[in-house]
Amino acid sequence: MTNKIYFIANWKMYGHRTSANSIKNVIRLAKSKKYKHLKLIYCPPYTLIDKFVQKTQNSNISIGAQDCSDKNGYGAFTGNVSAFQLKNIGSKYVILGHSGKRLDGDTNKKINQKIKNALNQNLKIILCIGETLKEKNKKKTIDVIKKQLKDTLIGINSIKNIIIAYEPVWSIGTGVIPENKILQKNIDLISNHLRRRFKYGKIDIIYGGSVNPNNIKDLNKINNLKGFLIGSASQNQNKFIDIVRKTIN
Ligand code: PEP
Repeated sequence: MTNKIYFIANWKMYGHRTSANSIKNVIRLAKSKKYKHLKLIYCPPYTLIDKFVQKTQNSNISIGAQDCSDKNGYGAFTGNVSAFQLKNIGSKYVILGHSGKRLDGDTNKKINQKIKNALNQNLKIILCIGETLKEKNKKKTIDVIKKQLKDTLIGINSIKNIIIAYEPVWSIGTGVIPENKILQKNIDLISNHLRRRFKYGKIDIIYGGSVNPNNIKDLNKINNLKGFLIGSASQNQNKFIDIVRKTIN
């Protein structure tokens, strides 16, 4: 049996007010005996979190956000949404450190603060790390991964509520995925780093970047991987289900 259990849908800036109706088949799948043990998580834009929470109430699908503020609670911070507010509206997870947000200016230090805020609210974190194409070409992948892990996790004592999503930036939205050999090497590196850093607790590492029904069989061969962060393909429920089925069957 596969050890892959996380299937996390990142909807990016897509979806409109009736979009929660478009995951009916996934809700049905999540209720069936064979898939009940899986952690199916939808991360729609902020505007749709409430609708998704309501829609998935009686299933084991959880809802997450795609970011949170580095500021706490309530405050005069225009345009921000705090971890407290996410928790209040029914989110259980939050994606942090996504390359899209790093492009918008999120530094490792800022991500570290967001992680602390989210953990204080008992949210589970999907922490994205990964090298850009330029860094890959300069053979900096290992250094980048290690630095991102080190700096974003400063002052964090437990990895229990943190899932690490390895997302090579050059693979996001491009249709290109790393060769299995290289991907396995990077996953092992992350796993070893975390083992050394956190002596206790389980380590959950997932992969993200152009996951789709055509490449999932290859990606399933990677060891030490607990699942996938799925962007574009997750907006189509049949593709999402296909990915889940091809992993579990
Ligand atoms: C993402 O945005 O996190 C992602 C993995 O996107 P895609 O699957 O579209 O590459």
